[in-house]
Amino acid sequence: MQLLKGMGNVGPPIQSFLESLYEAYRSLNAGQVASYIPELAKADASQFAISVVTLDGRVFQVGDCQQEFTIQSISKVFAYGMALEEWGRDRVLEKVGVEPTGDPFNSHIRLDETSHRPDNPMVNAGAIATTSLVKGSSPTERLNRLLAMFRRYVGRDVYVDISTFLSERATGHRNRAIAHLMLNFGMLNGDIEEALDLYFQQCALLVTCQDLATMAAALANRGQHPITGERVLRAEYVRDVLSVMYTCGMYNFAGEWAFRVGIPAKSGVSGGLIAVIPNQAGIAVFSPPLDENGNSVRGVKVFEALSQKYGFHMFDLSMGHCHFHDSLLSDSAEKLDQEQLL
Ligand code: GLU
Repeated sequence: MQLLKGMGNVGPPIQSFLESLYEAYRSLNAGQVASYIPELAKADASQFAISVVTLDGRVFQVGDCQQEFTIQSISKVFAYGMALEEWGRDRVLEKVGVEPTGDPFNSHIRLDETSHRPDNPMVNAGAIATTSLVKGSSPTERLNRLLAMFRRYVGRDVYVDISTFLSERATGHRNRAIAHLMLNFGMLNGDIEEALDLYFQQCALLVTCQDLATMAAALANRGQHPITGERVLRAEYVRDVLSVMYTCGMYNFAGEWAFRVGIPAKSGVSGGLIAVIPNQAGIAVFSPPLDENGNSVRGVKVFEALSQKYGFHMFDLSMGHCHFHDSLLSDSAEKLDQEQLL
């Protein structure tokens, strides 16, 4: 592909490269918008955005970066971080494993007498179990605490899209079945309808592509928000979160992604995709049409091109990891301050 030719020692300015990726892939019409949650089927397949946020709060972006959409499975990453902070690593590991599965994200396979916990926090079973760990004396308090955590990552107020929440709640039979199986096998306690509601609410959180890149940048920055400076996750747990993103974050494509792109990432069925370049930047793409694995078609293309161009695969030792960072340094970008987030 034309865009990937001519890898030199210094990358092109990142902004112009993002623009060329946007132009190259905006006419790519492969994939299908998710429709199993009726409200998601209304998404505009042509929407497309790419955002990069650096650790010092600079933003490079192109496309529909301020378009709001529901976060869906990308929320699982942050809920897992919250569970780790609230309960500690050992306690969370008792409840949810860290083993990748080759099964679909919404699989109920392996929830049986022989399994003691869901495989990992990125599949639905593990995510429902993780979200059920949110502390609070009532459903409202638990929701408020969860939203407060997301607000810290985004750096401004965030809200649940009620239509999507109700749409998923009314049709989420598979997740309900998963929760019942987990209840049966002792993997979940308490009121499972409440646990499911909180999980559906978390998935229906409204974010923009820029928000997602900012959230990813906070992880890249060892848990410190790149703009507000607030600590959003203890550094010791950033390691755990990035590890499960790396091995389990891209549905049935996780191994392929680790091989080809080589950085921790998570995608969601509304077409969002985040990736973390540790100590460098957070990147997000939004484009609703999904491939057969449930990942954004344009999103995967953009990351493959970026990884190849800038050599940010974590094990691409020949590239020395400085390529992308150097390109960011040599570029000028809008620098956000806290007021612009509000
Ligand atoms: N709320 C969605 C579900 O549980 C999230 C799916 C996803 O984005 O992978 O089905």
